[in-house]
Amino acid sequence: MTTPLLVPFSHGERGMADLLGGKGANLAEMTRLGLPVPHGFTITTEACREYLRTGHRPEELDGLVRGAVVALERSTGRTFGEGDQPLLVSVRSGARFSMPGMMETVLDVGLTDALAERLAQRQDPRFVWDCYRRLVEMYGRTVLGAPATVFDTMRSEVLAAHDVASAAELDATGLRALVRRYRRALVAETGEDLPQDPWAQLTSSIDAVFSSWNSPRARLYRSHEGIPDTLGTAVTVMQMVYGNTGPHSGSGVCFSRNPATGDAAPYGDYLTDAQGEDVVNGSRATVPLARLADLEPTAHRELLSHLSTLEKHYRDLCDVEFTVEDSRLWMLQTRVGKRSPAAAFVMAADMAEEGLITEDEALVRVDGNQLESLLHARFDVPEGTSPLVTGLPASPGAGAGTAVFDSATAVARRAAGEDVVLFRTETSAEDLPGILAAIAVVTARGGLASHAAVVARGFGRTCVTGVSDLVVDEDAREARTTSGQVVREGDLVSVDGTAGAVYAGALAVRPSPVAGGLPTSDTTSPALSTTGTAPVGDEGAGTTSQATTHDGVVLRAVRRLLAHADQRAAVKVRVNAETAPEAAEARAAGATGIGLCRTEHMLLGERRELVERVVLDSHADDALARIEALALDDFVDLLRAMDGLPVVVRLLDPPLHEFLPDPTDLAVEVARLEATGAVVPDALPSRLEATRRWAEANPMLGLRGVRLLTVHPELVDAHVRALVTAATRLAAEGLDPRPEVMVPLVSDVAELAAAREHILEVAEQTSRDLGSDRPAPRVGVMIELPRAALTADDLAGLAEFFSFGTNDLTQTTWGMSRDDAQASFLTSYATSGLLPEDPFVTLDQRGVGELVRIAVDRGRAARPGLELGVCGEHAGDPASIRFLTGCGVDYVSCSPPRVPVARLEVGRATVLQEGVSASDSR
Ligand code: PEP
Ligand code: MG
Repeated sequence: MTTPLLVPFSHGERGMADLLGGKGANLAEMTRLGLPVPHGFTITTEACREYLRTGHRPEELDGLVRGAVVALERSTGRTFGEGDQPLLVSVRSGARFSMPGMMETVLDVGLTDALAERLAQRQDPRFVWDCYRRLVEMYGRTVLGAPATVFDTMRSEVLAAHDVASAAELDATGLRALVRRYRRALVAETGEDLPQDPWAQLTSSIDAVFSSWNSPRARLYRSHEGIPDTLGTAVTVMQMVYGNTGPHSGSGVCFSRNPATGDAAPYGDYLTDAQGEDVVNGSRATVPLARLADLEPTAHRELLSHLSTLEKHYRDLCDVEFTVEDSRLWMLQTRVGKRSPAAAFVMAADMAEEGLITEDEALVRVDGNQLESLLHARFDVPEGTSPLVTGLPASPGAGAGTAVFDSATAVARRAAGEDVVLFRTETSAEDLPGILAAIAVVTARGGLASHAAVVARGFGRTCVTGVSDLVVDEDAREARTTSGQVVREGDLVSVDGTAGAVYAGALAVRPSPVAGGLPTSDTTSPALSTTGTAPVGDEGAGTTSQATTHDGVVLRAVRRLLAHADQRAAVKVRVNAETAPEAAEARAAGATGIGLCRTEHMLLGERRELVERVVLDSHADDALARIEALALDDFVDLLRAMDGLPVVVRLLDPPLHEFLPDPTDLAVEVARLEATGAVVPDALPSRLEATRRWAEANPMLGLRGVRLLTVHPELVDAHVRALVTAATRLAAEGLDPRPEVMVPLVSDVAELAAAREHILEVAEQTSRDLGSDRPAPRVGVMIELPRAALTADDLAGLAEFFSFGTNDLTQTTWGMSRDDAQASFLTSYATSGLLPEDPFVTLDQRGVGELVRIAVDRGRAARPGLELGVCGEHAGDPASIRFLTGCGVDYVSCSPPRVPVARLEVGRATVLQEGVSASDSR
C-alpha cells in the first residue's frame, strides 16, 4: 500500500504521528474522542519529504487537496473563499516532534479583496479587516519572505496616524488602511502581492510550510533536540474559527496541570477578542484561565471537562490551544505538554499516586538531566534585599550574569566566556540562539505559555516572563523599571526563575534544597516511603527545614522516584571521593561505596612538594614517611565513613607535570638570581637538573600509573602499607573496613602481574608486622587504555575486578588530549557539526563503547562473574549511564553531586530495557 499524502481528521488517530505530525495526529484523536474540533485534514510528512527532495509538491497532491476542500465545504456548508459565510482555512505546520514556534503558519487563507469588501458590508467590518491584515502579514512573511520589520514600520505609522497603541485598538477604517499599506510595502519589498485566487493562496501557503522545515532556526532547534532532519513536517489545513469577533470571543492556551510547578490544577492564559498568535507572542496582557469562568462560563466548564478527558486519555500533561467564537468553544490543538524539571517530577509522582500511570512509567518520565538541573544551587537573598522587578516564574533556577539585549550579543559574550542574561520585550523564534547562549532570560511581556517560557523551560534555562514593570528598550540597550531604575548592557543581574524575580547585582547562591534533602538508597529507611506522603522538613541534611512549600513537594516527588529507581536498579552507584566528608555526603545521597579514590588527589596543595621530593631526590625518606602517615589518617577516615562498603583505592597516578615544577620556571629563577647578583641556593641548580631529567613531552602518555612502580615502588609501598594498617586498626575497633586496591594505566598483563605481586607482598608483610590475619585487599585493574580492553581476557586472569577509566580510554582511543581538546578544537568541531557530542562528556558508543563491550565480553569469558565498574566522568552522564548499564557493568562511580542523577538513571535503565516507555502518546 502506498503511503497516503493526505488524511482527513476523521480518518486519523494519535498513533499516526510519524505521518500526520503530532498536531495532525492529535487533532484526529480529539475528533475521534468527539471533542469540538473544527473540520480539516492533514497533508502528510510523506508529501513534505517528497517536496523537500524534488523541490515541488507531489503531482497528485493538488487534486487531493481540492477534493478535501470540497469535502470540507460539504461538511461546513460553506464555500472556499466565496459567499457571505465563506470557508477560510488555517494552514499550519506540525512535525512528529513538537518544535514550538520554529516553523510557519498562515491564517485566514481564502480571503481576497473582493471577498473582504463584500463581507465588510454584511458583517462587522472591523473583524473582516482584522482577518485580512493578519492574512496579508502572515502570507507576506511566510510565503513571500518579506522581513517582519516591513510590517512593523507600516503598523507603527498607521497606529500613530490613528493615535492608538496597538492594532487591537484600530477601527475598521484603520485596519483597512493598514491592509493597503501592507500590500504596497509587500509589492515594493518582494515584487509580489497576495494572490487574489484562494486556491493559489492555499497551495503556496502549503509550500511555504513545507519549506519552513529547513529554516535556519528550525535546523538549529532540531540539532539541539536531536530531531532528525529527514522527518519533514506535516501540514494541517483546518476550517478557521474566530476568536476575534468581539467581546464574547477569544483565544487561549492552557495545560491540564501547571507546567512550571506540576501543581495538579489546570493552568492557562486567555485573551478576549484575539487569535491564538496574540496569546503566545505576549503582545497583549492575558488573563488567567480562571477568569474565563466569569467571562464565558459554559465554554470554561466545557474546557475543564475536555482537559480532564484528554489527560485521562493521554495519561499525561496535555496542553491545549482553544478558541471561543461567539461563546462557543473550539479545540484547535493538543499535545503532551512540555514541563519544567520540577514539574516533571511532581507530575510523574502525583500521576503514579493517582493510579493514572505505573511507578515504572513515572520513573521513565523524568531523567537525570532534569534531576541535575534541580540539584543546582539557588540564590541566597540577603534579608531586606528586594527584587528590582518581579514577573512570572517561567522556568526555575538561578542565573546571574551580565545583561544583554539582543541575541547576537548574547552569543558573542557567551563565546567569550561570560554568563549573560538576555532581556527582551518578548521573544520570538529568532531569539533561539540568544536563549541558548544565556544563563537566564527575562521578558517584559508574555505568560507562562509564551515563546520565551516554553523554549527556556524546554532547554532548562532560567526564565522570568511577563515583567510588566519593565520597559525593555532594545535599541538603547537598557531596561527601565517603572520606579526609575535602569539596567544597562553589561550590568550584573541575578534572575530567580523559581520565584520570578530579577535582582540587581550578582547574588550569592545557596545549595539546592533538593540536593540537601535527598535520602540514602537504603530502601529500608522510612524516609523512602513510596506512598509519597513522607513528611518533609524533619530529615535529610537540614536545608529542608527552610524549604518552601513547593520545594517540599518537589523533594517528596524526587524521593519517591529515586526510591523506585533504587528498587529497580540492576547496577549500583558508587562515588569517586578522597575525603571523609565527601564520602559521608555521598553515602547519605545513596552511594554504595567508593569506586575510585585517587590517591594523588590526597597529595595536592601543600602536600604536592612531598611527591616532588620523593621523585627528584632518592634520599627523601622523611618525605616518604610523611606521605605514609598522612595516607594512614586519610584512609582511616575514609574507611570509617564507608564502613561496611567497598573502598577502591587506586595506586598513585600522578601525571608528573602536575606534581613537578616546570623546568622553565626554575631556569628563569636561576637566571634572575644570577643576573641580580643574588646568591643562588645550593639546591636550585640540582633541582633544575633533576626536573629536566624527568620532564616529558607527553606527560599524559608518560610515567604515570603502573609505570611508576618500576621507578618509584616506594610510593606504592607507602600507600599499600597505610591502607592495610588503616583497615586493621578499624577492624580492631569492631568496624567492617573493605579496602580494595586498583592498578591504573595498565596496558599489558605483565605490568599487572608485577604490580599485583608487589602489592600482595607488601600487604601481607604489613599484616604480619601488625600481627593481623586479615586477608590482603582484593586487587583489580583499570581498563583505561585500548590495549587493556583488547587483552581483557589476559588481565582477567589476574584481576579480581575491572574498573573502566573512560576518561583516559576516550583520550587514548580518540588520540585527543583530555586536557586540551575542548580548548583547541572540540568546540569548533561541535559548532560545525563535525562532532555534535563531546566524547569526554557523553561516551562515544561506537568507538570507546566498542572497547568497553569487548573488554566486558573477554574479561567475563576468562573469569565468569568478574566484577565490573566504571569510574570515568561518563559514570555521571545520563546518556552514558544508559549505555554502560546495557553493557552489563555492576556499578558506576561518579562525582559526589551526581550520585542522585546516577541512581535515577540506573533505575531508569532497567525499566527502559524492559520496554516500558514514558507514554504511548508521545
Ligand atoms: C579515567 O581515566 O577515566 C579515570 C577515572 O582516571 P583519571 O581521571 O584519574 O585519569
Ligand atoms: Mg585515568
